[in-house]
Amino acid sequence: MSSPGPPSSLPLRIDPATGLLSAVRQVLSPHYDSRPPGVVPELLIVHGISLPPGEFGGPWIDRLFTGQLPPDGHPYFKEIEGLRVSAHALIRRDGEIVQYVPFGERAWHAGKSEYRGRSACNDFSIGVELEGAQDIAYTDAQYTQLAVLTRVLLDAYATLTPEHIVGHSDVAPGRKDDPWPSFDWARFHALLARHLPN
Ligand SMILES: [Zn+2]
Repeated sequence: MSSPGPPSSLPLRIDPATGLLSAVRQVLSPHYDSRPPGVVPELLIVHGISLPPGEFGGPWIDRLFTGQLPPDGHPYFKEIEGLRVSAHALIRRDGEIVQYVPFGERAWHAGKSEYRGRSACNDFSIGVELEGAQDIAYTDAQYTQLAVLTRVLLDAYATLTPEHIVGHSDVAPGRKDDPWPSFDWARFHALLARHLPN
């Protein structure tokens, strides 16, 4: 590798047989199913999430994605009771990556969505959540880890390209606004370019 990451970055690798990352915490979600036959990942969707909204840390995102969010834990949890959602991975504030769904499978992150005339983006996308909020900047560690993870995904799935990376707000405009203006796309793309093989 000609462009090693900072010392904190993990030697990430995706097992092509399982679609699982090495060296990350796995919290496998029941909220997924198979992609339609012959459909492969062609789009990376970046999301923002915090539970409760605006609060970081705690077990709640893991709990949401595994269907174990206690409705009485917070008024907001009551609002989203019964929601069956997931993402392939989450990058926490400290840069920790957690995987919930194998990348070859269909995670339930985009909902009703459309990308360049093609609907049901979950079918052909990979969803990565960043722990964040509308008005709080993402951390340096998150940008670094997102760039590293994206590079690993681009290497593993030849059908993914840097041109087809969008936010949830881009595929569900008016309905979703994450990863919010707090996500600096220019910064991410600059970092990703440094992590791409030339
Ligand atoms: Zn989202």
